[in-house]
Amino acid sequence: MDKSKFIGILTSGGDASGMNAAIRAVTRSAIYNGFRVKGIYRGYEGLIAGEVKEMTTEDVSSIIQRGGTILKTARSKEFETPEGRRKAYEVMQKENIGYLVVIGGDGSLRGARTFADEYEDVVCIGLPGTIDNDLCGTDVTIGYSTALNTIMECVDKIRDTATSHERIFFVEVMGRDAGFLAQNSAIASGAEAAIIPEDKTDVDQLEKFISRGFRKTKNSSIVIVSESPKDGGAMHYAERVRKEYPQYDVRVSILGHLQRGGAPSAEDRILASRLGEASVQAIMEEQRNVMIGIRDNEIVYVPFIEAVKRDKPIDKNLIRVLDELSI
Ligand code: ADP
Repeated sequence: MDKSKFIGILTSGGDASGMNAAIRAVTRSAIYNGFRVKGIYRGYEGLIAGEVKEMTTEDVSSIIQRGGTILKTARSKEFETPEGRRKAYEVMQKENIGYLVVIGGDGSLRGARTFADEYEDVVCIGLPGTIDNDLCGTDVTIGYSTALNTIMECVDKIRDTATSHERIFFVEVMGRDAGFLAQNSAIASGAEAAIIPEDKTDVDQLEKFISRGFRKTKNSSIVIVSESPKDGGAMHYAERVRKEYPQYDVRVSILGHLQRGGAPSAEDRILASRLGEASVQAIMEEQRNVMIGIRDNEIVYVPFIEAVKRDKPIDKNLIRVLDELSI
């Protein structure tokens, strides 16, 4: 470990509430431990373009409570090419950045892995920052708790109008390949069903919900649907009910980008603070190419290859819990 080299921090891919708390934690912990820090703007795009600025402890004052990311985020096609990564490497050399902390989702960590594989003197440490909670090796990701709470509050409001009008609502939430947000927000808000990508069995999830006799004992129903470019999401299911069960009054609510914003929950702030601090510890322990995760409330180092290699399994008991409690 070489303290004459800077620790660079960037946020990349989809933003998540709590990224600022992570930026603050990495910056403060690095400075506390005798490092200097550079913030890189707009993810890998900014790294390639050299949008870099030294960070002081004051630069991260009063950001722990703010959603979004003060470093901005972006997607970068150029970083997916060897030429783009070479430019990024040259900027790191010029700026004397020896360690790179990447806060982002599975795409961002895939990028970090490729980059670190190509350049042996680049040390990359990943922090799981995504509302989808879809990274393996960590129980939760930064932003997930806040998004879950936001969805729950929205569904509570939708319930008021659904009950008053005796309607069925299909509420679409984020998580195109992962149903954590849909399944757990359905449990938290007392929804009648969740349609998630992991439950793709031969059983049609809509049929299952209808055959359980929805609306027999209730005067409103809420079904949470994971967004899905393939299936068409909530719109698709609402259309089907309109066609197949015209006696029901159906509405759709797509929550969209509001799920990304807002002040981070206490859980996300604490998680981001712990993971951010641990990333500096990992650098001092000469770790490289690992994501910092949390399992059973303990900090763990997860090799990038493990973190991004496959779909994170959802606990199938959650499906049973919702089924049993929504009768
Ligand atoms: P997220 O990190 O939220 O999953 P993306 O999947 O959009 O977001 O990834 C963010 C960025 O990470 C991409 O725009 C790209 O620059 C970089 N990236 C993703 N996958 C790779 C890869 N296989 N190789 C290099 N860079 C990648």
